[in-house]
Amino acid sequence: VIVVFTGGTGGAKLVQGLHQVVAPEELTVIVNTGDDIEWWGLHVSPDIDTILYALSGLLSTERGWGVEGDSFRCLERMKQLGQPSWFSLGDLDLATHLTRTAMLRAGKSLSRATTELATKLGIRARVLPMSDDRVSTMLDTAKGTLTFQEYFVRERHQVEVRRVRFEGAHRARPAPGVIESIVAAEAIIFAPSNPVTSIGPILAVLGIRDALKQTKAPIAAVSPIVGGAAVSGPAGALMKMMGWPSTIAGVAKAYEDFLDGLVADHADEAEASVLRSEDLRVRCTNTIMNSPAARRDLARFVVEACAVKRGAGVGL
Ligand code: GDP
Repeated sequence: VIVVFTGGTGGAKLVQGLHQVVAPEELTVIVNTGDDIEWWGLHVSPDIDTILYALSGLLSTERGWGVEGDSFRCLERMKQLGQPSWFSLGDLDLATHLTRTAMLRAGKSLSRATTELATKLGIRARVLPMSDDRVSTMLDTAKGTLTFQEYFVRERHQVEVRRVRFEGAHRARPAPGVIESIVAAEAIIFAPSNPVTSIGPILAVLGIRDALKQTKAPIAAVSPIVGGAAVSGPAGALMKMMGWPSTIAGVAKAYEDFLDGLVADHADEAEASVLRSEDLRVRCTNTIMNSPAARRDLARFVVEACAVKRGAGVGL
């Protein structure tokens, strides 16, 4: 089984690619829940939803989140009624949040609710939240302490961040199946998700980093940094804040205690040759996933890079 660590929009593209090249039963996706938000009384798990929609073919290609072709009539009416409206939920998307919230209120865990939603959507790959316990990514900024969605959506990440914290992580236990999948994986792939706010929360959950250090599986990451800058979003700025360069070397630094291989873009060939070492294989390819074919090709490249190590005991 191939295990993928991911956040939302960037990671989902690689997950879609992997879904094209690996049998669904051979794919386990471990998803960030540090961005989860209570909105209009509903429990919204944006990254889990993006992955569920990606794997069921419902994901909006244009937006990269939410359901393709969704309408926003409820949102408009909520705004008219004086309700907060800076976080957009589509009408069909609402059905997911209503169902999840009802399941959680009935006493089901987030992982149980996720499995049931995935089954209803016809998904055969395994989707695991990082934890059933609440972990909240909080950012100390020039405008005070913000949740991830307040920072990312409401403030459009245009505010200086001084510190990122994962509230609750020190007592959060990995969801059932997370540690087992890491230990038993054939290969582990870090999607090109934001290393600080999408992967950071997962690595902060008790025991996950240790399991990654101990597993025999090759561990590869796809860089979200291309040509020395994030393809989109605040990854570059947040990496700098962490004291990591906003380059592929910074991505390697974020994962240094367990990473075997890094897949970078051709645009970063020069940096790749500096970074390459005995301990870290660095391979370059096209990593811009702007079409289903590009997603598939990158996924195949990463899987094959991992397979080399499995076969020959070297590689990546
Ligand atoms: P979020 O939860 O919506 O922030 O999504 P992720 O953390 O999963 O993805 C955001 C990251 O994906 C950003 O840092 C982008 O640089 C990266 N990204 C987006 N599209 C691509 C792409 O096509 N290729 C690569 N290599 N990275 C991408």
